[in-house]
Amino acid sequence: MECALDWVSKGNIGDYMSRHRYDDNISELKTYFNSVVNWVSGVFIDVESEMRGLEWGRLYEQYHKQAYDPAKISAQVHKLYSDPYVKNRKGIFEYILGSLVDTKLLEVRVFDDATKKSVYATQTSTAKAKGESNCPLCALGHDANKGKIWNFEEMYVDHVAAWSKGGVTSVSNCQMLCKTHNRAKGNR
Ligand SMILES: [Zn+2]
Repeated sequence: MECALDWVSKGNIGDYMSRHRYDDNISELKTYFNSVVNWVSGVFIDVESEMRGLEWGRLYEQYHKQAYDPAKISAQVHKLYSDPYVKNRKGIFEYILGSLVDTKLLEVRVFDDATKKSVYATQTSTAKAKGESNCPLCALGHDANKGKIWNFEEMYVDHVAAWSKGGVTSVSNCQMLCKTHNRAKGNR
């Protein structure tokens, strides 16, 4: 029971308890907890320490009607656990349940300042030599910004291939873009 409470956890318990405070037995509560625990252990073969204290009650309500392949889920868990760019491992489970869409849950690591400055320097000196803008997308355009050299502070870092599509957070996948083009590209 203690374990079930921990698994269902956060907020849901209070709600549930107040809705059922006049029940004369706890069998319904037990059944509910068992459903949650059974669902979680059915979907996730692996038991990771980060699974403790997640809002399993909410996740159960939100996702238990979807079908998941536990073997496939397990492979996804392992892949994300071994990805050094995933900062928030607690977010892995909801990310997977939501069909790998909400990358914000993972708090993917961003490029550090040293990387940004080094990429900026290389991009800028190459651009100057060619007489083009140091924003590679401005350089492709046909307006006044075609030859514009942006300051470091005016540029934003970008994953050339978005992390969510397999792009890594390394120098080879880093480029600096002007504000407008960084916004236009969107998907980080
Ligand atoms: Zn640009």
